Amino acid sequence: MGKPTGFMEYPRKKVPWRDANDRLKDYGEVYTPAEDSHLQRQGARCMDCGVPFCMSDSGCPVDNLIPEWNDLVYKGRWQEALERLHKTNNFPEFTGRVCPAPCEGSCVLGINDPAVTIKNIENAIIDRGFEEGWVSAAQPAERTGKSVAIVGSGPAGLAAADQLNKAGHQVVVYERADRIGGLLMYGIPNMKLDKSVVQRRVDLLATAGVEFVTGVEVGVDLDVIELQKSNDAVLLATGATVPRDLPIEGRELNGVHFAMEFLTKSTKSLLDSELQDGAYISAAGKKVIVIGGGDTGTDCIATSLRHGCAGMMNLELMSQSPVERADSNPWPLWPLIQRTDYGHEESIAKFGVDPRSYTILSKRFEDDGKGNVTALHTIRVEWKKDDSDRMQMSEISGSEQRHECDLVLLAMGFLGPENPVADALGIERDQRSNYAAAHGDFSASVAGVFVAGDCRRGQSLVVWGINEGRGAARSIDAYLEGGSTLPAPGITQGTAMG
Ligand SMILES: Cc1cc2nc3c(=O)[nH]c(=O)nc-3n(C[C@H](O)[C@H](O)[C@H](O)COP(=O)(O)OP(=O)(O)OC[C@H]3O[C@@H](n4cnc5c(N)ncnc54)[C@H](O)[C@@H]3O)c2cc1C
Ligand code: SF4
Repeated sequence: MGKPTGFMEYPRKKVPWRDANDRLKDYGEVYTPAEDSHLQRQGARCMDCGVPFCMSDSGCPVDNLIPEWNDLVYKGRWQEALERLHKTNNFPEFTGRVCPAPCEGSCVLGINDPAVTIKNIENAIIDRGFEEGWVSAAQPAERTGKSVAIVGSGPAGLAAADQLNKAGHQVVVYERADRIGGLLMYGIPNMKLDKSVVQRRVDLLATAGVEFVTGVEVGVDLDVIELQKSNDAVLLATGATVPRDLPIEGRELNGVHFAMEFLTKSTKSLLDSELQDGAYISAAGKKVIVIGGGDTGTDCIATSLRHGCAGMMNLELMSQSPVERADSNPWPLWPLIQRTDYGHEESIAKFGVDPRSYTILSKRFEDDGKGNVTALHTIRVEWKKDDSDRMQMSEISGSEQRHECDLVLLAMGFLGPENPVADALGIERDQRSNYAAAHGDFSASVAGVFVAGDCRRGQSLVVWGINEGRGAARSIDAYLEGGSTLPAPGITQGTAMG
């Protein structure tokens, strides 16, 4: 519970990020280390609220035992805090860095005071655990003789692999990229999650007995039916990788790219050669337009700035969120409010203006006459509710604009998973084209095949990937053994964001 009077004595104080101008000079993480005394005071703000909504359906998707570890941190009992944290979360070093922290949106203190800095405390506990050597790999005491193939190595695949390995099953994770981690490796940039942090956990899993195969696309390099036949169960954790396109005039011009092509190549080149191999789409000296907000858009902004772009615009079709919660968005729901993320902050530091413009519809790309994009033409829109209470968009005539640009990054979200593996296995889809399976069960329509993460729930969050990977592992264990002692994540559907 922290200190009974802590929330009255200490104000909320987040662990600061590095200075924006400073961090723009490198690709290192944006975070700064925190003093123990700082974290203890912040942990002391947890107020024994009786019903910790931070752990409820609107809060933490992996049911982290937040009040328990807040109290332990306040008392300086870090190792016990780490044990509690690992009970519910396989990878707190990922969520402690990149989770948007729905727990904080549901913190009871947040009703009339700023919430406890839960995410900072989570990150400090696990970082301390690694520093002290408290995090280690353990092979399971016994092997069951059953084998599980996992396709995809994002947070869902990795969490399932960890849990199934602990249950004694032989696990092989197949990944088509050259490095393990899914979007943790190639998606979320180094500045938010250093790739050595991802690799450190992958190495621990490998030492504990999980086998990793990279550079193999199941369904192309390896027949999925063969994989199914040669294993006792198969888990698809292939992500929602089909990007939303912008089919307007000039889409085919040079310089218009999907965000993921830009981000993946930049990180790969950074890891392979410190960007010396030139095998990436450079934003250096270019006027960049990022279309779409969200994490992907922010990451494109931050990466372009580090490449040395000459200008930055971020266009969003939707209206700007309010500064405070709207009446229709009360506590403990995820607060739908305006946030300034690391990339926006850095763009403001570099160019002196917020790069974001709202209610802007892209109409066409202009050709420079040589097949390269040279401008984007837009029009402003307004959003109004129609008679059936649905938001409708209309263009505002006379608000047309031309924006010069030589690099456009499309960050408008993802439509769902790719088809080939699911089609070969004959598994059913839901109405949104995701692989159909109920949360908590995770069985696809074909016996022995399970699905988890973004390929089942649609584009989501790292913490939901961990929730689903853990849940799918329990279902697979029960399928193989007739029952399971692996924990089930308590939250089944979740009203939290993602
Ligand atoms: C740019 C970006 C930034 C993000 N930032 C955040 C953030 O800050 N915080 C947050 O919580 N969430 C963030 N997200 C969302 C989060 O990363 C995802 O929700 C999460 O990674 C999904 O996990 P997953 O395991 O389901 O799939 P993924 O992480 O997508 O992993 C799927 C893996 O499967 C592999 N694969 C697919 N098909 C095959 C095949 N046939 N054979 C072999 N391998 C295959 C893919 O190569 C991929 O590596 C971000 C997403 C993006 C795109
Ligand atoms: S995983 Fe996310 S929601 Fe859960 S405690 Fe950590 S920051 Fe909060």
